[in-house]
Amino acid sequence: MTQIRTPLQPADDLEPARTHGDNRPLPVRSLRDWLDHLAARDRLVVVKPGIGLRFDLAAIAKRLDGLRATLFPRPGGHSIPIVSGLISDRGWMAEAMGVEPAEVLARFQEAASDPIPWRETASAPAHEVVHRHVDLERLLPLPTHNEHDGGAYVTAGLMITRNPRTGKQNVSIHRCQLHGPNRLGVLLLPRHAHMFFEMAEQAGRPLEAAIVVGIDPLTLLASQAIAPIDVDELEIAGALHRRPLSVVKCLTSDLRVPAEAEIVIEGRLLPGVREPEGPFGEFPQYYGERAERHVMEIDAVTHRKDAIFHTIVGGGLEHLLLGAIPREATLLAHLQRSFPNVRDVHLSRGGACRYHLHVQIRKRQEGEAKNIMLGAFAGHYDVKHVIVVDEDVDIHNPAEVEWAVATRFQADRDLVVVPESQGSKLDPSTRDGVGAKMGLDATKPLAAAEMTFKRIRVPGEETVDVPALLASTGRMDWREAVKR
Ligand code: MN
Repeated sequence: MTQIRTPLQPADDLEPARTHGDNRPLPVRSLRDWLDHLAARDRLVVVKPGIGLRFDLAAIAKRLDGLRATLFPRPGGHSIPIVSGLISDRGWMAEAMGVEPAEVLARFQEAASDPIPWRETASAPAHEVVHRHVDLERLLPLPTHNEHDGGAYVTAGLMITRNPRTGKQNVSIHRCQLHGPNRLGVLLLPRHAHMFFEMAEQAGRPLEAAIVVGIDPLTLLASQAIAPIDVDELEIAGALHRRPLSVVKCLTSDLRVPAEAEIVIEGRLLPGVREPEGPFGEFPQYYGERAERHVMEIDAVTHRKDAIFHTIVGGGLEHLLLGAIPREATLLAHLQRSFPNVRDVHLSRGGACRYHLHVQIRKRQEGEAKNIMLGAFAGHYDVKHVIVVDEDVDIHNPAEVEWAVATRFQADRDLVVVPESQGSKLDPSTRDGVGAKMGLDATKPLAAAEMTFKRIRVPGEETVDVPALLASTGRMDWREAVKR
């Protein structure tokens, strides 16, 4: 991978670890703290002012994807800066949570099962500037990312809606295309916000909605939790923060939004109205099609005095990881309910962080890997190929998983195929979301002789102090070194 050096903070300028009394680091609770954290570790680059909003900005963000977050001052001449790539690395997410990388899924699952109710405040930074006559394109820097995207999009907006019957809030991210000065086209997939909208539409009413742009990484992650309906994902954010999230009431509705948000777009999803939206570059690295979609009319925009706009480049690592971590956490908890010997799961990047699941088990029983595969297919319809491996295989390393398949799998006895099942509609090889599942049992047979599957290893390989044993740290003449 290309190493990119930037003239930012020197390495010794790390901020001291912030801790609880018991030395656990605190979770990161604001976008600005997170930008400070990244900058102190040389992971935030500031780009020259005035980068173009159509493709130019996304091209830079994508080149730095996984290496650096990018901050764009005056994008397209706009006064509000844009940031992208906030969490394009799993290790960064662990730091944001204040846990070790191996603890990310357990910590997320703990927060999802034990949310902390939010606390309301009367005034908020998110309300410092108020616009009631809205021209979105003038107010906000709205970029266009992929080649065939249908236009400019809000891609990193947390849409907050309320169940019209119970009043409980929902948080979810939807792609929102600019359709007019006060109009966004919105893709509502058939989950909670969509159910709330259908209740409102059947009653002939609009559904109030607020889109929050510019928020801390843990609230972003919480928005992707696969939680039951009527779980307010802002309460999961509070649990990830280890304290209640501060919220403030919207100016034009009863919705509560994070008080620390950079920007809030308030409006209504209109009943009986659909307009063409798309295409849009999606996580499988293909375009989501243009079709008649829901429409949100905007009533107000509020923001901080020095607001920052966040954009997620469609199909980039930030997009992939935000979806992957909550899914992994849910799939792991789901599998462990039936199979306590499942140790870890991983949605691989090559599988678009949705379709390929690696499962690591402590094998107890022949045949069990196949039951585990079937459990994984039932856990989420996006799961398409499952590879089950033993605990000596690193499931985060695709070369290790491929090695296990190469040396511990035989297609005539270790392969499971489930034809004509429900898959992802965004997988272009399915027929409108109908396709096959495949499971590979790449575990060792329990009865195998010990040496048959023993991995080779050089004693001392992991512990030897190589720098201390090198003859010279600089350039040296090898002929001189071997002279007798
Ligand atoms: Mn929900």
